Amino acid sequence: MAELPSKSKGFIDWYLAVVEAANLTDKRYGVKGMNVWTPYGFLARRALDAVMVREIEATGSQPVEFPTLIPQTEFQKEKEHIKGFDAQVYWVTRGGATELDVPLVLRPTSETAMYPIFQLWIRSHRDLPLNVYQIVNTFRYETKTTRPFLRVREIHFFEEHTCQVNEAAATARVASNLGAFRRMADALALPYVAIRRPDWDKFPGAFYSVALDIPVGEARTLQIGSIHHYRENFSRPYGIEFETADGGKSLVHQTTFGLSERLLGAVVAVHGDDRGVVFPPAVAPYQVVIVPIGGKGANAPVESAQSLATLLRERGIRTHVDVSEDRPGAKYYHWELAGVPVRLELGPREAEAGTATAVDRLGRKSVIGPAELGAAVERTLDEFRGALYEKALAEFRSAFETARHLDDLKATTKVRALSWCGQESCGHQIEQAIDGALLGTPEEEFPFASGDPGPCIACGSSSGTRWALAGRPL
Ligand SMILES: [Zn+2]
Repeated sequence: MAELPSKSKGFIDWYLAVVEAANLTDKRYGVKGMNVWTPYGFLARRALDAVMVREIEATGSQPVEFPTLIPQTEFQKEKEHIKGFDAQVYWVTRGGATELDVPLVLRPTSETAMYPIFQLWIRSHRDLPLNVYQIVNTFRYETKTTRPFLRVREIHFFEEHTCQVNEAAATARVASNLGAFRRMADALALPYVAIRRPDWDKFPGAFYSVALDIPVGEARTLQIGSIHHYRENFSRPYGIEFETADGGKSLVHQTTFGLSERLLGAVVAVHGDDRGVVFPPAVAPYQVVIVPIGGKGANAPVESAQSLATLLRERGIRTHVDVSEDRPGAKYYHWELAGVPVRLELGPREAEAGTATAVDRLGRKSVIGPAELGAAVERTLDEFRGALYEKALAEFRSAFETARHLDDLKATTKVRALSWCGQESCGHQIEQAIDGALLGTPEEEFPFASGDPGPCIACGSSSGTRWALAGRPL
């Protein structure tokens, strides 16, 4: 088997090789940027969806599914939105041989699909809040280099859309989304920073956008999700208004929350190492792989492995028993590459004693059992998630550094925290110096951006300065 390139020597080469070697996706499909989900990759995706569904429904959101095609007439109602997506949409212009009267857009995101219907659903203040989400495929004609999970043209997309009674309620929904994401990221053991994007980089049509970013080395950042506050920017053109308690009319304030398969890409990027993928248990296709090790003719370990697997599956643990002909060493290599959190080795002696040797994907070994095997495996998975988070957090912390001068940004290998006065011209000077982007201002408390930021790094002004982050978005 070919050696994986080293992660530290070249992130992108390593990333592409590891996704390929772990067989998460097949990118040989005939449309560039539209990839095939393999069985193994699909299991990871389904587990990720389950995490998103659990956390968003805990905040009172309900599932919906809207059609894939959007009439051009609806798509063009909010002018910033259409301007932002114009270059990226796929058009459907014919049904059979007939030219369509109104061309249709393959949804790049679903504001313009949902909002004409929200306008019908919402009549009174009693219909609010409306919090709904869907997990569907969206389509964007990417012109940049496509990469599995990170930049694709057919996107596996999670989108929540909400209507609130006023601006304060919409702001509270943004905070609720941030809380839901904190719990999702915790399950994935992913440290991140929530950043309010500068005005020139917000979502087309938004009042403001909060992006969820992670550092991936060499000052690079990956946006893994976003939350937008729309105020009345969409409800006005779509006429989404309601009757207030005192009989007046008012427009709703809206928010959205978007995530995608990029989260899987982030899991690979952050946790993976030179031996392959490392899945946190929450999204691992198999959380446990049991490798029975028997001498010739000995079948006791296989039987024990099967009954242990049954016991674990009854507890909801995704378990696979590897009974292939390969030698144990080859099996270990394969499942490490595939990122399985915990491997259980079961030889004749263990089978007889009712124990198993557990080896987690960080290489930590323990003997579990004979009593409470199921609980012991659960505990091992939990501890693994905790250790994975600690490791990721140490790398996260070392990815940032404070900058005091524009010169600090040149050729930097760190994402930089700096003082910014808020002016767009200074923002662009910062972007030029780092050869990247002013990511924005941290939305929540952030260790690298506390205390007095001092004078603006670009113009030297001390008035109205705030902490900002600058890096090189992937
Ligand atoms: Zn300035």
